[in-house]
Amino acid sequence: MVQPSTIEADVIVVGAGLSGMIAARKLLEAGLTPVVLEADERVGGRILTQEVLPGVPVELGAQWIGDTHERMFRLAAELGVETFPQYDEGATSYELVGSGVLRENEFHARFESELRELELVLRRLDVLADDVPVESPWSAPRAVEWDAITAGAWYDAQGLSPVARTLLEICTVGILAVPTAEVSFLHLLFTIKTCGVTSELFAESEGGAQTTRFIGGTSEIPNRLAALISDRIVLDVPVQLIEHSADSVTVHCRGGLVARGRRVIVAISPTLAGRIMYDPPLPGIRDQLTQRLPNGSAMKAFFIYDEPFWRNDGFNGQLISDVGPARMSNDTCIPGDDHGVILLFLEGDQARTYGRLPENERREALTAELVRHYGGRAANPEFYVDGEWSERQWTRGCYNANHGPHVWTTYGPALTRPVGVIHWASTDTATYWSAYMEGAVDAGERAAAAVIAELS
Ligand SMILES: Cc1cc2nc3c(=O)[nH]c(=O)nc-3n(C[C@H](O)[C@H](O)[C@H](O)COP(=O)(O)OP(=O)(O)OC[C@H]3O[C@@H](n4cnc5c(N)ncnc54)[C@H](O)[C@@H]3O)c2cc1C
Repeated sequence: MVQPSTIEADVIVVGAGLSGMIAARKLLEAGLTPVVLEADERVGGRILTQEVLPGVPVELGAQWIGDTHERMFRLAAELGVETFPQYDEGATSYELVGSGVLRENEFHARFESELRELELVLRRLDVLADDVPVESPWSAPRAVEWDAITAGAWYDAQGLSPVARTLLEICTVGILAVPTAEVSFLHLLFTIKTCGVTSELFAESEGGAQTTRFIGGTSEIPNRLAALISDRIVLDVPVQLIEHSADSVTVHCRGGLVARGRRVIVAISPTLAGRIMYDPPLPGIRDQLTQRLPNGSAMKAFFIYDEPFWRNDGFNGQLISDVGPARMSNDTCIPGDDHGVILLFLEGDQARTYGRLPENERREALTAELVRHYGGRAANPEFYVDGEWSERQWTRGCYNANHGPHVWTTYGPALTRPVGVIHWASTDTATYWSAYMEGAVDAGERAAAAVIAELS
C-alpha cells in the first residue's frame, strides 16, 4: 500500500469495502486512474474474518452468499476463492411463545396451522413487493400509504396468532437488524423486491441468502481484491472534507493527505457519508436523508467446542427462539477441522441490550440458551468470541441503513442521485440484494459505470 501526502487521480474512491474496491477495479479496467482512501488499517469494512484458533476462521462480519448472488459467485471464482455449502442436516430447535424447547418435528406438528398462516402472509408480502420498483420505491402505486406505516404495524394488522407473529418478527429482524416497529413497510417491501421473493431472503437451503460460505473465510474476497489494486489503495486515512466544483474534487484526510481528482465515489454507508464535511455544502435533501438513515444493530457470538456434538444428536445447529439473547443460531463449522463452531445472532433490541453488557454476562446468558437447546455439553466451549459493530468507528452498526416511515417517499431520490461530481455507492444504495455483499458489488459497479460514462 502507498502512503504519499498528495495524490492526483481521475477518481477518488472513499472506502475500501467491497463496494469501493469493485468501483476502483472497474475504473481501472476502463483506463481511468482511481485511488481508494480507507479510514481503517485494513480493507473489507463489514467483512471481517478472524482466525481465533489455528485453522478456525470465524466471520465477525459477512459470512454467506445465496444462490442468486451471481456477482459474488463470479467474483469468488475470478479471485480463486473456493466455496462450500452451509451445513443443513438435522433438526432445528424451537422455543417460542412459552412452548418450551421443541424439536422441529414436534414444533411443526403442534403449530401446523400457525405455520400455514405465516406462509400465507409471506405470499401476500411477495405479491405486494412485486409492485415496488427497486430503482424508485417512492413511485410504487401505493408508496405513500405503505411508507406511512411500519412493517410492525402491517404485521400487527394481519390478525396473526402469537406464534406466526413472533416468527415473522424474528425472521424480519434477522434481516433488517432493527425491530419492525422502526422500519417503513415500504422499505420492507423494497428489501424483499431487491432480493427476489421472501423465500430467497428467509430460507437457508434451496435458495435463500445463506447457502454458501468461503473456504478460508469471507475476508479472502476483499483481501485478494485489494492485492490486485494495492498500489491504488491508501489505508488509515479517514476522509474528513470533500471540496468540489463543477469539474474537480479535492479530498482531505485526517493526517494531511490530500487527493485531487475529477470525480469522487463515496462508498460508505449513508450515515457515515453524512459525517464528512462538504464544501460547498450538499443540498438539504441529501443531508436530511443521511440524518434519517441509521444503521441497524447486530452482533455475532461464536462458541467453539472440541466437536460439533449437536450433530450427533440430530440437530442442524439452528435454533429459533424468543427466549434469551439470541433469536437464531447456525452451525458454522469449518470443513476439514474437527471443532464444533456455533454462531448465535443478536439482532435489533437483543444486540442493543446484550451488546452493552460486559462480555462475561453476555456470554453467560448465551450459554444458558445453548444449554437449553443442546444440553450440558454446550456449557463448556473451548473458545468464545463476539463482535459488536456499533462500537466500530468506521461502521457504526449493521447490517445496513434502515429506512423508517416517510424516508423513501420524502427523500428517496437523494440516496443515489449524484451531487455534481460526487457519486454514491455502498450496499445501502444497491437495487439488487441491497444490504448484502452482492449489493455492495452491484452499487460499486453502478457508481463506476456512471463515472466512466461522464469521463469518457
Ligand atoms: C455482522 C455482519 C454480518 C453480515 N452478514 C452478511 C452475510 O452473511 N452475507 C452478506 O452478503 N452480507 C452480510 N453482511 C453485509 C455485508 O458485510 C455488507 O453488505 C458489505 O460488506 C458492505 O460493503 P460496502 O463496501 O458497501 O460497505 P463497508 O463494508 O461498510 O465499506 C465501507 C468502507 O469505508 C470505510 N470508511 C468509513 N468511513 C470512512 C471515511 N470517512 N473515510 C474513508 N473510509 C471510510 C470503512 O472502514 C469501510 O472499509 C453482514 C454484515 C455484518 C456487519
